[in-house]
Amino acid sequence: MPESPSSGKRNWLYALSIGVAACLLIALLIPRANDDGTIQGETMGTTYTVRFLKPDKLPWEKAHTERLAREIARCLSDVNAKMSTYTPDSELSRFNESPAHVPFELSPETFEVFEAALAISAESAGAFDITVGPLVNAYGFGPPPEPPALPTGEQLEALRQRVGYRLLALDPPSRTILKPRADVYCDLSGIAKGYAVDRVAEVMKAHGLTDYMVEVGGEVRVRGLNPDGMAWRIGIERPTRDGTRVVMRAVELVDRALATSGDYRNYYIVDGRVYSHMIDPRTAMPVDHALASVTVLDQKAMIADGWATALMVLGPDEGYNLAEARGMAALFLVRTADGNIAERFTTAFAGLTVGPGKR
Ligand code: ADP
Ligand code: MG
Repeated sequence: MPESPSSGKRNWLYALSIGVAACLLIALLIPRANDDGTIQGETMGTTYTVRFLKPDKLPWEKAHTERLAREIARCLSDVNAKMSTYTPDSELSRFNESPAHVPFELSPETFEVFEAALAISAESAGAFDITVGPLVNAYGFGPPPEPPALPTGEQLEALRQRVGYRLLALDPPSRTILKPRADVYCDLSGIAKGYAVDRVAEVMKAHGLTDYMVEVGGEVRVRGLNPDGMAWRIGIERPTRDGTRVVMRAVELVDRALATSGDYRNYYIVDGRVYSHMIDPRTAMPVDHALASVTVLDQKAMIADGWATALMVLGPDEGYNLAEARGMAALFLVRTADGNIAERFTTAFAGLTVGPGKR
């Protein structure tokens, strides 16, 4: 949300909605298009916001903003129709329902997301794994919404047979995907919102816009400058489990994407143990460590989104070391023994922050 004016200049600081459950059936609502260059709506069980600077060289009428808003809504509903596990007839759901050993042809869009997901799986030693869907659902975090009745050890053992990114074989020339078991089930919730952001950024570009911010469910991509002629400032939330939303850090982004993954919003507690919606495919258990959130920067929101989930699974040490070794710009917010949050920046991230966020 926009910050109130500070020191005469308006700063655009956005509290990120992170860790929002990739949840409900998608209802595409009529987007709101305001004349101040703001477009908002709902998609993928969450909200989106687009802000842009009207081009000075092009004539720009309100009708143009409305047309842009409709195109953005169409673009997002297209991504949803392809990649949602909450829509029974989405392309992804049809693949999930398809038989074993039969090549399934994917749209170029879904194929691109599968390719990126498998690359992140390979580079994160399997921490990111879209075949984790059956486990996500078993813990009550996927469709249909189930009360959290914990799966038994025996059930988990059976589910594990269906999990493993190596079960998926992509064939780029034919744009097909193949699975060796009918019950392999993919969940793109950890990467699709970022992809949707990239797609909306393309729509902006196609309209000749050069200064904008696109945000879907907390994943962000910016280009150019904000309406004050300054770099876009994006707020990173302090992870809390009491529902409060406070900006802990702000980053200034230029032509960059940012995604955050956290364990503090979508979770439940049974017998004192926290069950979050991030599942570690190596243990078949929800992640349970001191890492509360990870924010990743990349050129592409899809990559930032997938990696934020991957690093969140890897945890505060393994995740940090891998991010540093890969030269990634990432911020790890880690719970300390005294109940505080410690910040850990990778080298590439340091220098981008502009101090603690203030309201
Ligand atoms: P959010 O959806 O809260 O913004 P993420 O982008 O991190 O957060 O995506 C989390 C979702 O990713 C989970 O709800 C689940 O559907 C899926 N997921 C959980 N564990 C993994 C994993 N190890 N690899 C890939 N996707 C996962
Ligand atoms: Mg993610």
